[in-house]
Amino acid sequence: MSMVPVLIAGGGPVGLATAVELAHHGVRSLVVEPRETVSWLRPRAKTTSARSMELLRRWGLAETLRARAPLAVSWSDEAVFVTSLLGREITRIGGCFGLDLVGSDLAAEPGQQAPQPLVEEILREAVGDALLTGWQVAGLREDAEGVTVRIVSGDGEEREVRAGYVVGCDGPRSVTRAAIGARYEGRQDARPNFNIVFRAPGLAERMPHGPAVHYWVLNPAQPGLVGRLDLKDTWWCIAQGVRAEDADPVRLAHNIAGAEIDVEILATDPWTARMLLADRYASERVFLAGDAAHQNPPYGGHGFNTGIGDAVNIGWKLAAVINGWAPAALTATYEAERRPIAADTIEAAAANMATLAPELADPGLMGDEAEFEKVRPAVAEAVLRTKHSEFHSLDLVLGYTYAGSPIVADGAGERLPHRWLAPGESLYDRLGRGFSVVGDRRAPGVAALIEEARELGVPLQVVDLPGEPLTLVRPDQHVAWRGEDPAGALRRALAHA
Ligand SMILES: Cc1cc2nc3c(=O)[nH]c(=O)nc-3n(C[C@H](O)[C@H](O)[C@H](O)COP(=O)(O)OP(=O)(O)OC[C@H]3O[C@@H](n4cnc5c(N)ncnc54)[C@H](O)[C@@H]3O)c2cc1C
Repeated sequence: MSMVPVLIAGGGPVGLATAVELAHHGVRSLVVEPRETVSWLRPRAKTTSARSMELLRRWGLAETLRARAPLAVSWSDEAVFVTSLLGREITRIGGCFGLDLVGSDLAAEPGQQAPQPLVEEILREAVGDALLTGWQVAGLREDAEGVTVRIVSGDGEEREVRAGYVVGCDGPRSVTRAAIGARYEGRQDARPNFNIVFRAPGLAERMPHGPAVHYWVLNPAQPGLVGRLDLKDTWWCIAQGVRAEDADPVRLAHNIAGAEIDVEILATDPWTARMLLADRYASERVFLAGDAAHQNPPYGGHGFNTGIGDAVNIGWKLAAVINGWAPAALTATYEAERRPIAADTIEAAAANMATLAPELADPGLMGDEAEFEKVRPAVAEAVLRTKHSEFHSLDLVLGYTYAGSPIVADGAGERLPHRWLAPGESLYDRLGRGFSVVGDRRAPGVAALIEEARELGVPLQVVDLPGEPLTLVRPDQHVAWRGEDPAGALRRALAHA
């Protein structure tokens, strides 16, 4: 039987990110994934948040994603509300999804629009040999020393792999979730949705609205949300309120465009929004991450980004335990820190879903110029009132905190505020891969922390900022402690008894 420190069930974005995080700390893993290649025609998530981009920067992958993303961050940060792609503009919202944070003091990276398969492909490249495709997890048996995982190939061949720990990133129908006896709790939206990916040569050139990352079509006859997948001719579209059995994808594309354009349907994907949270995230040695643990409506672009946060949280903790600088109790804090954030994200995304294109659409918008101008101000006001927070959610994206976690000191837990130390150099770039102490190197607390780290075998980087108070920073860039006397701070941050 082969042996691996961590087996990851599922090589979607979250499973791959977990493997990258483990590798960042020198820990080997095996990602078991049935899909041989990424699914280019199911683009799903398009927004990589500013926080996920900071984490990609930490892995050295942010530049790669930007270089290969079809829509450069400078291309647009706007959402435009229209009667159709070729029709009239109602209003627009700028600064969407943190795409405007280029060079900002708020974040080390702006957000980036990129189709999910591109993110997955870049993560697959980073994971390298740790990815085993063509296989899936069929079951697992946990004991005091490890987990025996049964994997099955596409041809029905069976093997067993012995792992110290398992991270279940196997999505909504997670085998791992079932294996640890956890259950999703929550609800699903009543409205069906129908996604289309289509090619429409020349459509962009005819469109009067200019660059935007989202075009919201507020036509009551066919409301929807549409955007460009690339700067060639490929588009994605969510048609809201359309049942798969009634869907005529070509007609949908014509309605959204507002004309009988030339269109080639590349893929369709019916889906229903779900607000689901696993009742628990872990057993002793098996942890759930990403959609296996939580699902939220896509509005606001949080789904996969929340999963990347899970991956980093469980990844550094498992690495600390496996590398021998934390007790196993550290991994029990994963659920306490991440589950409340998923619960908040689900509620925020559900609130975003309360007002979509069907609710904003008004028949008057489709009338003559006089009728349009009569209803336009009220519709524009409703858009700005109800949609602002969906496109501007930095409180959730950058502001989530682990305050109240048993391993952070009172008043700590938030993401270390980023700042530029030199042109292009974020404070984050100076942090170590283990813990870091940021502040005046001459403060007595620094020597005490160095001594505590030496005793515990914890990697500790000192980031000297003369004259500044001391901050103890975790490997995930969250603040574990602040103050003058750090006695016991590192022990607490690592869940030592
Ligand atoms: C139609 C649609 C539109 C969406 N739009 C957005 C959006 O705009 N923004 C956003 O943030 N999110 C969006 N999402 C959600 C986003 O796609 C998910 O949150 C994200 O994919 C979660 O990543 P994951 O790795 O946790 O799970 P998944 O991407 O589901 O990956 C799970 C992986 O596990 C594999 N797997 C399954 N079973 C097994 C098994 N037994 N053993 C091993 N592997 C297994 C699967 O092949 C898959 O690769 C959308 C989702 C859908 C369905």
